[in-house]
Amino acid sequence: MSFFDKVKQGASDAAKKAQQTVELTKLKAQISSKEKEIEKFYHLIGESVYAAHVSGSLDRTGEIVERFSHGIEAVKQEIAVLEQKVIEVRNEKECVCGKVVVADTKFCSACGHPF
Ligand SMILES: [Zn+2]
Repeated sequence: MSFFDKVKQGASDAAKKAQQTVELTKLKAQISSKEKEIEKFYHLIGESVYAAHVSGSLDRTGEIVERFSHGIEAVKQEIAVLEQKVIEVRNEKECVCGKVVVADTKFCSACGHPF
C-alpha cells in the first residue's frame, strides 16, 4: 500500500469511527428515553394502586399491575431491539451464552461455541 493509500485508508477509518460514534450516541439516547418510559409505568402502577387503596378497591391491584405490565413488556422489547443494534454498530455479535464478541470471532471465548 502506498503512502497516499494509507493516508486515504486512515481518513476513511476515522470517518467510519466517527459515524459509528454518532450512531451509538443516538441509540444510547433512545435506550435511555425508553428506560424513562418504564419508570413512568412504575410510577403509574404505584399511583393507581394507591388510588385503589384510597377508594377501598385494593382487590383491583392485580388488574392494575397486569395492565401496566403489558406496556412495560412492550418497551422492554423495544430496548432489546435497540441493544441488538448497538451490538451490530460496534461490529460485535452475541453468543448463545450471552457473551458479546467481535463480529469475525470464530469461537466464543467464554463457552467455546463455534460461529
Ligand atoms: Zn459463548
